[in-house]
Amino acid sequence: MPRRRFLAAATASVASGKALHRAMGAPSPSLAEMTARAPLFVSTWPFGKPANERALLTYQSGGGGLDAIEHGIQLTEADPGNSSVGLGGIPNADGVVQLDACIMSGPGHRAGAVAAVEGFRHPISIARRVMETTRHVFLVGEGAMEFARRNGFERGPKVSPGQRDAWAKWKAEEARKARARAEKNHDTIAMVALWPDGNLYGGCSTSGRGYKLPGRVGDSPIIGSGLYVDNEVGAAGATGIGENVMRFCGSFLVVEFMRQGLHPQEACIEAIRRIARLDPQGFDLSINFVAIDRTGRFGAAGTGTGFEYAVTTATSSRVYQSPGLTSAATGPVGGNQK
Ligand code: ASP
Repeated sequence: MPRRRFLAAATASVASGKALHRAMGAPSPSLAEMTARAPLFVSTWPFGKPANERALLTYQSGGGGLDAIEHGIQLTEADPGNSSVGLGGIPNADGVVQLDACIMSGPGHRAGAVAAVEGFRHPISIARRVMETTRHVFLVGEGAMEFARRNGFERGPKVSPGQRDAWAKWKAEEARKARARAEKNHDTIAMVALWPDGNLYGGCSTSGRGYKLPGRVGDSPIIGSGLYVDNEVGAAGATGIGENVMRFCGSFLVVEFMRQGLHPQEACIEAIRRIARLDPQGFDLSINFVAIDRTGRFGAAGTGTGFEYAVTTATSSRVYQSPGLTSAATGPVGGNQK
């Protein structure tokens, strides 16, 4: 897939953390200084770049940290061309798009999440409403949809016409081949943000794995798996095969590694190493993490060739290639700024 393509140049083996930071063009002290006055947004995939920029606009218009996360992710959810987030997403095996999302606020350590919601344009906003207006964290399926209906959330089609056609094709003759292809088609927007006052926020939204079993929920809406925000330490988000993240509380693990003193990028790498050590699949997990810490440092890592992620501040907005991990022995490879 193009968004997961390996950059030919990104092949140098980088063993030490220090070298890794240099290879990444990782944040200099001036970035940390800068984020003391301006926000920092880090999101998964190149489609995270316009989302970050929308989040920055919210900041510049006087919005708060949760507003920025919500507006940024809404932009991705509203993109009909995005086949892995929002209603343009690939449907499940019944031909229905079931969406998952969560949001988290560093201040107050509050969280909200929804899963398996059908026909709603902005699951991230429903997740925020759960956080802000109920005593609960997580609503799923019918209950989540009834909550959204009562709260006046906008509905869209349960599947886009293009995806409906693709699903019908998948269901018919081409089933086996199409399935193998489409099951690999899954991405997520996970966005983490450092606000100028030092507070951290995050959000995550996805349509999940293509042609998943109806009712399947991945890591993305689960606090600690697809997203985790700890105002004392940092924030992390995940994309990739949710089953390989949620069994390990992946984003929580990344934050805990940062708590132990690791740079966000080293924390992402260590989390992948830990998971690969425990899982018989080893490094063939298809998982990726982004992370920021409370001082404004950021990083990412993925299995295989790594993945692309977006970093936006008031003065720059870029897509980076994360380092990738294929084995414990060789260490992470690549990780170049685009
Ligand atoms: N993590 C998502 C899920 O498993 C998919 C992805 O990010 O690729 O639902």
